[in-house]
Amino acid sequence: MNNYLLKNGRVVDPANGRDEVCDVLVSDGVIAKVGQGLTAPDGTVVLDVPAGCVVTPGLIDMHVHLREPGQEHKETVRSGVTSAVAGGFTAVACMPNTTPVNDSASVTRYILDKAAEAGLARVYPIGAVSVGSKGEQLAEIGELKAAGCVAISDDGHPVRTALMMRRALEYAGMLDVLVIDHCEDPTLKGDGVVHEGAVATALGLRGIPGEAEEINVERDVTLAGLTNAPVHIAHLSTEGSLRAVRQGKARGIQVTCEVMPHHFVLTDEALHGYDTNTKMNPPLRPASDRDALIQGIADGSVDVIATDHAPHHADEKALPYDQAPFGIVGLETAVPLTLDRLVHAGVIDLARMVELMSVNPARIMKVPGGSLSEGAPADITVLAPDLPVTIDRKTLKSLSTNTPFDGWALRGGVAATVVGGRLVYRNRQVTGLEAWPSAPVE
Ligand SMILES: [Zn+2]
Repeated sequence: MNNYLLKNGRVVDPANGRDEVCDVLVSDGVIAKVGQGLTAPDGTVVLDVPAGCVVTPGLIDMHVHLREPGQEHKETVRSGVTSAVAGGFTAVACMPNTTPVNDSASVTRYILDKAAEAGLARVYPIGAVSVGSKGEQLAEIGELKAAGCVAISDDGHPVRTALMMRRALEYAGMLDVLVIDHCEDPTLKGDGVVHEGAVATALGLRGIPGEAEEINVERDVTLAGLTNAPVHIAHLSTEGSLRAVRQGKARGIQVTCEVMPHHFVLTDEALHGYDTNTKMNPPLRPASDRDALIQGIADGSVDVIATDHAPHHADEKALPYDQAPFGIVGLETAVPLTLDRLVHAGVIDLARMVELMSVNPARIMKVPGGSLSEGAPADITVLAPDLPVTIDRKTLKSLSTNTPFDGWALRGGVAATVVGGRLVYRNRQVTGLEAWPSAPVE
């Protein structure tokens, strides 16, 4: 393995209170030293950080769907982690709604084996709360944890009943495993496909009220209080949900939440035209919700930005709007959208972006990463905050290209990604062809 000296980058490492131009020495897969004017020991490859680029702890996406086993025509573990490193993510946590569902050690180990074979981003499997995610019988949480799961969720669906949620929190709390919930009351959601409101009415599409999410968030916050165990709210999308999380935090309840780029960028106005790449669950909301999420990201109520990367084949997304599957790909658009719409827009600074996309996901899932501390694994993202980027679905590394952002011109991208001291992605447009060694993903 090569050792690297990243020279003269702006290092933004909020966990260590650092924001300055300096050097980062990587040896034997760990951060050996961070400081100014470091010299490269023999055999170290010097990587001059391009002007304007920012060196941060590796970004961690705690909500992705890798589709393997079972739906490899949409994404495999290998194509998913290729997409991840190209998007600046050094680690991803993958939801259990594969086929079969990841409710047993054998599925967890299968995913981890595929991730080791690919050797790109780290993969943290999330196990199911209930057997088959059916909401009837609690999964073997201890077995899942022993096999390598960092959390449990029935994502795709909510944890079905309050009693099941209580039991999950009790067991998971004892075992120190995080419970992540996709909050949605199935009876209120019904067969809705978009947010219930004026746009849905105008377009003749069946609606899902924001309250379908909020009722479930309130339930989970209440039960996290009852069990004194942590709960993490997946893809929070409404002002009312955020209010419930804020109130829980104020009462000392262990509740955290994540927001997706599509929910802080788009509103249900994007549904005009019936592009099925605007169909996701939770659905795109009105501007009032979008603005509340942005406020929550700025004031610290929102803990994490994650993607809900949900690859679907073009043939499936080509179905009529109410039959097409929910979800969009997100790994390769999250950094440009966050830099453009939040950082350059003045909503947050780079340090807060690193908290939302690295520090907090690592802390909440209790996985390595989130800092450039000496001795920590050398998982590093080099951002190019001023790079002009045009999203082009044809160049995405993901096997699927279902994105509503095709053709968008944004400011900010990724220059390089280092995982465990290995350069796994370089953006040749930023690093040049000669100055940096080649990487498995380019
Ligand atoms: Zn979900």
